[in-house]
Amino acid sequence: MTRFTSTNPATGETLWEGDAADQQAVNAAIAKARAAFESWSVTPLDDRIAFVRAFKARLEANADTLARAISQETGKPAWEGKQEAATMVAKVETSIKAQAERTGTREQDMAFGRAILRHRAHGVMAVLGPYNFPGHLPNGHIVPALLAGDTVVFKPSEETPLVGELMARCWAEAGLPDGVFNLVQGGRDTGAALLDGHIDGLLFTGSAGAGAHFRRVFVDRPEVILALELGGNNPLIAWDGEADAIASIVVQSAFITSGQRCSCARRLIVPQGAEGDRMVDAVAAMADRLTIGQWDETPEPTFGPLISAAAADKARDAVAALIAKGAKVIRPLEKIEGRSDAYVTPAILDVTGLDMPDAEIFAPVLQVIRVADFDAAIRAANNTAYGLSGGLISADEALWRRYADRARAGVLNWNRPTTGAAGTMPFGGLGSSGNHRPSAYYAADYCAYPVASFEAGEVADLSAEIKGLRVAG
Ligand code: NAD
Repeated sequence: MTRFTSTNPATGETLWEGDAADQQAVNAAIAKARAAFESWSVTPLDDRIAFVRAFKARLEANADTLARAISQETGKPAWEGKQEAATMVAKVETSIKAQAERTGTREQDMAFGRAILRHRAHGVMAVLGPYNFPGHLPNGHIVPALLAGDTVVFKPSEETPLVGELMARCWAEAGLPDGVFNLVQGGRDTGAALLDGHIDGLLFTGSAGAGAHFRRVFVDRPEVILALELGGNNPLIAWDGEADAIASIVVQSAFITSGQRCSCARRLIVPQGAEGDRMVDAVAAMADRLTIGQWDETPEPTFGPLISAAAADKARDAVAALIAKGAKVIRPLEKIEGRSDAYVTPAILDVTGLDMPDAEIFAPVLQVIRVADFDAAIRAANNTAYGLSGGLISADEALWRRYADRARAGVLNWNRPTTGAAGTMPFGGLGSSGNHRPSAYYAADYCAYPVASFEAGEVADLSAEIKGLRVAG
């Protein structure tokens, strides 16, 4: 076993220390999950719901501890850690509703009796979590999976093991039968060991690179269900409106959570000329007014550091590469005097007319593209292999319809930040952003498979229905 730690990116303080699970430990967790599946999958739904509600009660009781751990491990401000903990609580009732609505049972009368649609659990689900929503996103797989009757082996991000541990504690305190939920800690090696094992599904939220790798890993195991929730290179078209109102939507889209949301706007598309200048100036002026600081500071920060100094280095390298290709700096990505190396300032770069890499920079970095007309704006927006979120800022509903009908993205926003999401709606993307198995309200769909059954209560003689059957004797 390899030892690893998690630290607060703002202070370097150690928050968690432990061993990374090796293949043997991972196999033991999978074996426990497999043994538990037999009875968990046929446990009456009402009983499974009761366990999940008991988990919700433990989340509520531990909400402050959980919110604090989220903020400390990721660097998110206190308000955002609390929001995430509250979202995890809300996920339980939404998932119960979603399961009934999307994968419940349906019955239809037939001449012979009835046809019934039921859903069955897949088996052992591996859940790999990202660091940016270390509680909410894996929770969005785990709760629907357990409701469906699957058992789970969860590996949190190696950046956020403490949050994973607190989640596991809540499940244990909920009295869940042994082996139904299993935690393994570690990095990619532990993740790889989990995927090597005898699992029935991988529920993954993380980077597009890892998602593409997993498609290859499972190419010869088509029986393993894959739900891939990946990154984006998300466009936001700002077309008309009051400059400060536009700036408020753009800034929230691009810089919230230090740009570490999958749905953050990465590309701002504006009209060429004075109108576009006015918008970009307002965005830059508002970016200058954001408060960046430690999670528990007063006044409340807008956002905190990136997840690590290494992530900040990676973002700086990506920005340097854009500048080397000709990007003009409107606001630079800089370190912050007197802060840890994980902090960066929000950056804005004009990349109009340049051939930029179609890549997600997971940091507060916004690329501005100026276009001649609205058709060019839509073309620029769709000029990506990704397809997670997108948005339009304009008071013109006809333009919105034009964009909404042509946008290649799973989450669209009209005069709203691109980071819009609701537990009552699907959340997922196309192309490099996913595999058409959206999460959130639709998570129920990938946690169970539909079974159509045709049922007659009596053993009736069907010989009259057999064409060409000769009379006996
Ligand atoms: P990541 O892909 O680096 O890691 C995610 C998880 O997968 C971690 O637990 C990691 O240990 C594991 N992992 C990564 N590569 C692996 C490999 N080769 N083998 C086995 N396990 C592996 O992602 P991250 O940096 O933690 O999270 C940020 C990324 O997640 C961004 O790209 C972001 O856009 C994306 N994201 C997507 C959504 C969505 O819903 N679509 C939501 C949040 C984050």
